[in-house]
Formats: sequence, structure tokens, C-alpha cells
Amino acid sequence: MSSTFPPPGRHGHAHSWRAAGLPYYTYKFFLQERFGRRVQRVSVDAGFTCPNVDGSVAWGGCVFCNNASFSPSRRPTEPTAGRRTITQQLDAGIHRLQQRYRDCQHFLAYFQPATNTYAPVAALRALYEEALAHPQVMGLAIGTRPDCVAEDVLELLAELARRNYVSVEYGMQTMHDRSLDWMNRGHDHAATVDAVARSRGRGFEIGVHVIVGLPGETRADMCATAREIARLEVGAVKLHNLYVVHRTPLAEQVARGEVPLLERAEYVQCVVDVLERLPPTTVIQRLGGEAPGPYVLGPAWCLEKAGLRQAIDRELAERGSYQGRHWSPSAAFV
Ligand code: SF4
Repeated sequence: MSSTFPPPGRHGHAHSWRAAGLPYYTYKFFLQERFGRRVQRVSVDAGFTCPNVDGSVAWGGCVFCNNASFSPSRRPTEPTAGRRTITQQLDAGIHRLQQRYRDCQHFLAYFQPATNTYAPVAALRALYEEALAHPQVMGLAIGTRPDCVAEDVLELLAELARRNYVSVEYGMQTMHDRSLDWMNRGHDHAATVDAVARSRGRGFEIGVHVIVGLPGETRADMCATAREIARLEVGAVKLHNLYVVHRTPLAEQVARGEVPLLERAEYVQCVVDVLERLPPTTVIQRLGGEAPGPYVLGPAWCLEKAGLRQAIDRELAERGSYQGRHWSPSAAFV
């Protein structure tokens, strides 16, 4: 379904979130402004794997990611028995969401698990077009790695963005290469800078995922990443803490006492530091971890999402602060 809503300016309705009394530019606020109605994301699994799982750039995947099921046979170009079509997944996901949000009729198809541009462009086109053909789908959100957007993929995304809302989310994680090495990411920060530069001006929204609280990173390091996000001028950011799920290398490292995890109070301080350094035009799509509870080994506090959000709001209020308080166009390069 093509979006019939007028596109906003490059930065949306910047600062209107402040007039609405919010301390930061929430995703809910953005979606309401952008589409004029409630819109929810529906996650779909198209069967992708990742280049740091299948050996193209590394083996085993990111240290925190339970990717045991991301075998190469999951590639969307391989016939896999039992995998539901994108349409079937959307129907089921929409049905589930409508149990909770009865008034919601419009959705974004969120290509979420693994690297969702890691296939030949013809296969990608078929998957994305199938999602957009769903009568309740207003657009796409596509999670991927910055080293997986060749020119033909960007051209496809730009073409789709001329007809639909399209958001591309790059796994940046941090600007510090030593942390990217630690997590077995298989790309450096220069890859993110390059992907964002090549994506700019193509009509789709650019977002980044960032982890706050990586081992060995100081508050100053995290603030440096925030200033780098500002410098890159991306439209949206997802922040989350480092959390541990079953059957990952990180679970073993934490069990051996090699990797400390932030307490909630420390995380709140760091997230507020980051929010203060992001431009007021950057949409904050997420403020904490999102893994389903049964898979999370810790920290337990990140499963209490409402409590975490309230603690972040409280800290902002105590500082008399808000998103962008320590940001200015010139400061972004400091
Ligand atoms: S975190 Fe993302 S890039 Fe890393 S292995 Fe998991 S799905 Fe792949």
C-alpha cells in the first residue's frame, strides 16, 4: 500500500515535541505527526543471515547475538520448508497487535532479524514489494549493517521511498573501533560513516542502533558516540543497554565475570548524557533493550520498560534538561 500522507520536511516538525511538553522526540510523537494516526511496527523474518555469521567477514556473529538459527540455508533465495510468507507473517502480526491496540489499522513492515539487505537485489525487491502490497502496510523499516548496502540496494530503497515511507536502520553500535572489534562486528566505524554518506539524499529515513554501556567505554566515550551521531545527521536513533541472552559468547563472558553490566542508575545517567548531545531533530525510537523476557539472562531491570522510561524522565527533570541541551550545530564537531 503506497503512503498517501504528505512527507514532512527533512527534519519533520522539529521542536514541536518540546511544545507538546516532551523531554525528547519520541517515536510515538513522530509517527503521529508523520502519518496523522496511530501506526505500529510489525516484525517480519524474511530468513536472512549475516556476513559476520556465515564467514563472509567473520564467523559466529556479534558476541551478544543468539544467531545459532541464522544458518546460510535461511537465505531468502533458498527454499526453506515451513517458513511463512511475508504476507502470512504480516497478517498474524497485525492480528496480534490489534488485540492490544484495537484502534490501530495501519502498520509498518519491520524487517528485523539479521541483516535485511543481505541478498541479491531481485530477491530484496520481491520481499519488500510483497510487504508493501499488504493493504494495511504504510511503509517499511529495514534493519541492516552498514557494510551491506551496495549501490544497487540503495537504488532500490530510493525507488521504494519515492512511493512509500521507508526507514533504513544501520547497526552502528558505537563509534569506537575497539568496541566493534570486541563484539566481533566484522566492520569498523568508517563503514557506518560511508553507508550514511551514500544513503543521504535518497528519500528514505536513516537511523542508527547504538549500545550504551559497552565494556571498556567511559561516559566520555559514550558522549563522543552521541556527538558522532549528531555529526552524521541521522533522522532516528535506537538506544539500548548491553543485555545478555542465552547461548551467546557474552553469556559465557558475563558468567566468568569478565564483562560488567551497567546497573540501571548508571545506564540512566549515560542515556541522559547521550540525549543531551543529540540534535532535537533526531527521533528517539527506543531507550532500552527489546529482547523477549524469557531469553534475557540480565540485567533484569531492562525488562521493566516503563520503570526505565520513568527513571530517564526523572533524571532529565532533575537536571532541568532535555534532548539537545548540550547540542549545537557547531558543537556537533567538537
Ligand atoms: S547483532 Fe545483527 S549483525 Fe550481529 S549477528 Fe546479530 S543479527 Fe547479525
